[in-house]
Amino acid sequence: MKDLITKKWDDILEYLRTEFGIQKVSFETWLKDLKFKDIENNKILIFTDSEDNISNISFIQKKYGNFIKSAIAEVLDLDEMPDIELVAQVPESLKAPAPEIKRRTGSSSDFILNPDYTFDNFVVSRNNSMVHAAALKVAEAPGEIYNPLYIYGDPGLGKTHLLHAIVHFIEENSPSLKVLYVTSDKFTTEIVESIRQGTVSAADVREKYRNVDILLIDDIQFIIGKNRTQEEFFYTFNYLREARKQIVITSDKPPRDFADLDERFRSRFESGLIVDITTPDYETKMAILKKKIEMREFETGSRIVISDECLSYIADNINTNIRSLEGALNKVIALSNINHKSIDMELVEYALKDMIFPNQKKVITPEFIIDVVAEHYNITPSEILSDKRDSFIAFPRQIAMYLSKRYTLRTGNDISKVFKRDHTTVLHGIKKVENMIKEDPSVENTVDIIIKKLNID
Ligand code: ADP
Ligand code: MG
Repeated sequence: MKDLITKKWDDILEYLRTEFGIQKVSFETWLKDLKFKDIENNKILIFTDSEDNISNISFIQKKYGNFIKSAIAEVLDLDEMPDIELVAQVPESLKAPAPEIKRRTGSSSDFILNPDYTFDNFVVSRNNSMVHAAALKVAEAPGEIYNPLYIYGDPGLGKTHLLHAIVHFIEENSPSLKVLYVTSDKFTTEIVESIRQGTVSAADVREKYRNVDILLIDDIQFIIGKNRTQEEFFYTFNYLREARKQIVITSDKPPRDFADLDERFRSRFESGLIVDITTPDYETKMAILKKKIEMREFETGSRIVISDECLSYIADNINTNIRSLEGALNKVIALSNINHKSIDMELVEYALKDMIFPNQKKVITPEFIIDVVAEHYNITPSEILSDKRDSFIAFPRQIAMYLSKRYTLRTGNDISKVFKRDHTTVLHGIKKVENMIKEDPSVENTVDIIIKKLNID
């Protein structure tokens, strides 16, 4: 029997991979590295020596145990389901597996969700494997394991990416579950609006947020301290948690670092799992650059030739976060396209000189503001500069104009040039935002948040 299992182990894994409709990312994360160990007291012992999975072994047994048994029974043609036990084993090698580079074809059409932010497109490495595993578990078994799941870390490290990935995963695998992703900015706007409109509307908003199976709230730091919104959020939070509905929260810091957070809520936040997401190491940065290049090639259908030396220069020198890493890569590609030149070290150094050797004092430019505003609204900088008049683009564009006037040293004429619009259009936009800030607290709040994101000191 032992020999037979050893011999057939690959077939068993293959059966697991193909026969039960298990998601690729789940198979790759939990099952691919399982190995046959021994038979003891009629029990088939299975182990993993993947360092990341040792702590997840009981989850794997609970969630996939029956699949594993069926696969063994089918492949070995057994009459009865075998007994199995999953055991952890100290890893033989600590080498991280090469990241999977594969792009998903189907994509969500939801406007808010970024279709590229999937588990498949998330590069897993030593410094984020914990948070990746936690997010994947929550997507596979919402409400059952960690509640709430609280992810924190500096900007640009992948928090929003993971939240969107959870939503995509659930939409695909558990379409009957109601999942709601919201930025704390949007949440605040809705609360402020509903208060203004009166009780009926307030009840509607409450209903909307309570009537879900999974609530994901992004960047909670912008709610903490805002009394009315914070209060409303905590009601919702308690309600969902008591109903054993899944809550996932991201933030720029852990609950204990919020000085003005009520003790009761701090302890509720801490009652689930708190994981941090940290800056990537060199290998991770290289893997992410390669992944982004591949995605770009897939999108545009044209090949991008860039040597490892050039990639290595980018990875070595961009140490802030993954968003900047991507920004650096985009700059290099853009420069090469504009000048019809191939990408070599000279071009890379030239393209990145401002990023790698920034002036001591940070200068806020309209271009930087456009990037931040675009990111905030989940649209692209080129949409902001486009002729499109849809309000979900036109309004962010006006906010970017307003902030450029307020925070850069550029003249009105300069700003019109950057935005490719005539002077009166720009002035009109700025005036409009100024008025809205005065009249509409939710606009004031949004602008406030974007200013925080500009990080002006
Ligand atoms: P945050 O919400 O933490 O500020 P984001 O989720 O917006 O950060 O991530 C910023 C960018 O970095 C996104 O384009 C995202 O796809 C990318 N990114 C972050 N982490 C990874 C990762 N592990 N693999 C691939 N891309 C990543
Ligand atoms: Mg984010």
